[in-house]
Amino acid sequence: MARIFNFSAGPAALPEAVLKQAADELLDWHGSGQSVMEMSHRGKEYMGIHAQAEADLRDLLGIPANYKVLFLQGGATLQFEMIPMNLFAGKPSADFVHTGEWAKKAIKAAKAFGKANIVASSEDGSFTYAPAQKDWKLDKDAAYVHYTGNETIGGVEFHWTPETGNVPLVCDMSSNILSKPIDVSKYGLIYAGAQKNIGPAGLTIVIIRDDLIGKGVPTPQTMMDYKTHAENDSMYNTPPTYGIYIAGLVFQWLKQQGGLAAIEKQNIAKAKMLYDCIDSSSFYNNPVRKEDRSRMNVPFTLKDAALDEEFLKGAKAKGMVQLKGHRSVGGMRASIYNAMPVAGVAALVEYMKEFEARHGK
Ligand SMILES: *Cc1c(COP(=O)(O)O)cnc(C)c1O
Repeated sequence: MARIFNFSAGPAALPEAVLKQAADELLDWHGSGQSVMEMSHRGKEYMGIHAQAEADLRDLLGIPANYKVLFLQGGATLQFEMIPMNLFAGKPSADFVHTGEWAKKAIKAAKAFGKANIVASSEDGSFTYAPAQKDWKLDKDAAYVHYTGNETIGGVEFHWTPETGNVPLVCDMSSNILSKPIDVSKYGLIYAGAQKNIGPAGLTIVIIRDDLIGKGVPTPQTMMDYKTHAENDSMYNTPPTYGIYIAGLVFQWLKQQGGLAAIEKQNIAKAKMLYDCIDSSSFYNNPVRKEDRSRMNVPFTLKDAALDEEFLKGAKAKGMVQLKGHRSVGGMRASIYNAMPVAGVAALVEYMKEFEARHGK
């Protein structure tokens, strides 16, 4: 069976090479006579897989030694609550940059734990741009500053790293982590659900600077306290072992691709193909300010929404699925994470041109 091109925003496509390796190792991992799924998380084999995944992630992102990598569960959504629980640390407020659907959810959740100040927002432009640093009205006494690195639904991405002085910078990187090199030392905490650009759903990665651990006031419940997970190497309870194993294979695949600088180059090229197609036509439209367009999630509309169904049907017939836009935005959305091959984007662009030729004018 031929594999389809899956443009889903998440759970999303995984590299074919990773899936093949996982299939080969499914029944018998490295001669152990068992599947990774069946291994004790305290056993020597799994401990090795776990440690290697962390080491490879550290290597890829250049994570400094004074940061912990936590393999958690509960998705980015649980982090919307764990972060304020742990990081407010007795301070009255934290600063938030409001850029769309995901920022909004993070802000709403934080309000249960303290004051969430919106220090910059693109609401005035229907969330079609990333507010410039000079417009952020930061409070130097804030507990932390939170922003959404890539708005998966709106297709808006920060292509620069905010400066927040001594106030810890917190970023939701769920949909663009590992898509480009970043300077981890600029952040207090980075978090991401795995199912977009890392691996299967069920694993959440948190990268947190040491000094921010164990400062929750009041002390969070055991499972909600980063300290518990940091002190136990993410093994306080059973971690999502199979998800961590697959993520580990993805990290190795990324290294084989040449690391994050090489992947970024490819992501820029893929995104350019798609945006060029949209911009060179009057049939397709993307509303996001050019310099803030996401390289991972490309929303676009057709000139006539009545053609949406036919567009989707025709795409499916050509082996391209999950192009329907988020229900809150409508139109189309092509998610083109690391694992989407250039050939997939090329096929989509070719189909878009052909569809326009048939229905345009
Ligand atoms: C998908 C997504 C989330 C939610 O992730 P869950 O794992 O479903 O909790 C949060 N933030 C961003 C930016 C996302 O793309």
